[in-house]
Amino acid sequence: VLEAPVVLRVRDLEKSFQGLHAVDKVSFDLHEGEIISIIGPNGSGKSTTINLISGFIAPDSGIIDIDGNPVAGLSAAEVSDRGLARTFQNGRVFAGLSVDENIGLGYHKKLRAQRPFSSLQRFPLLRWLPLLSETGVALVPGPAARRERREVDERVGREIDRFRERLESRRNDLAYTLSYANRRRTEIARAHISEPKLLLLDEPTAGMNQSETAEVLQQLQYLKSQGHTILLVEHKIDLVIALSDRVLAMDGGRIIAQGDPDEVRNDPQVVEAYLGK
Ligand code: ADP
Ligand code: MG
Repeated sequence: VLEAPVVLRVRDLEKSFQGLHAVDKVSFDLHEGEIISIIGPNGSGKSTTINLISGFIAPDSGIIDIDGNPVAGLSAAEVSDRGLARTFQNGRVFAGLSVDENIGLGYHKKLRAQRPFSSLQRFPLLRWLPLLSETGVALVPGPAARRERREVDERVGREIDRFRERLESRRNDLAYTLSYANRRRTEIARAHISEPKLLLLDEPTAGMNQSETAEVLQQLQYLKSQGHTILLVEHKIDLVIALSDRVLAMDGGRIIAQGDPDEVRNDPQVVEAYLGK
């Protein structure tokens, strides 16, 4: 994969919070079809790195390029329009929408990116309201919206069949009634269905038991076999070793080791960083 084109290029990325260097001169390349995992003790800057790349917070300095185009400083919505999808450490879904609707948003988003004059984009003001901007396609009546709605329903059905059969019986349930594991499944499905160029997953198995973790591993292996490009933050080292082409270890905002998963796991500095906490 190292000969494959670079999808994500990060150079000297920096972010401080009140003088604390949360991310300190982080640099790496992620190639097409590659899975890189970031490991490191709590507070080492992993989530901040993801938040910077996805536009949820702005860097103090540094370069972030997606497919060669600079995205540092763009909003999360703009970065998402350039083909990035992400999930959150604590699993974020729209609580008042059903499982189907939550997953469907991901596909509406993809269609919107493909069709510049889809029903939503003719109403740019809707984009100001985050929830409406995600559901707005359905709010604008007309044949185009109905067609899009049918297309999305059909695609969500296939996503759930193929990828999240555990959600089958919950499709019409509102997200706030879901178990934690089902919330996270919904979130990953919503990201996947948007067919992102680049997928960022922040601790997708945090708080999951062994069998739930094994199931997520299987799902991620499926994504890997499909050639997805993934930046994964993960604590469970077995999962990291099973999935990753390369591993970055962070401590105190810096990358302290990188390379082959086994190599990084046994690196004395990495062992020390974990033991020291
Ligand atoms: P990790 O995901 O590796 O556990 P984080 O990236 O969440 O670590 O945090 C890195 C450091 O930055 C921590 O010391 C954390 O307290 C701090 N931090 C993260 N986000 C903020 C914020 N919004 N405001 C202030 N400090 C923050
Ligand atoms: Mg984190």
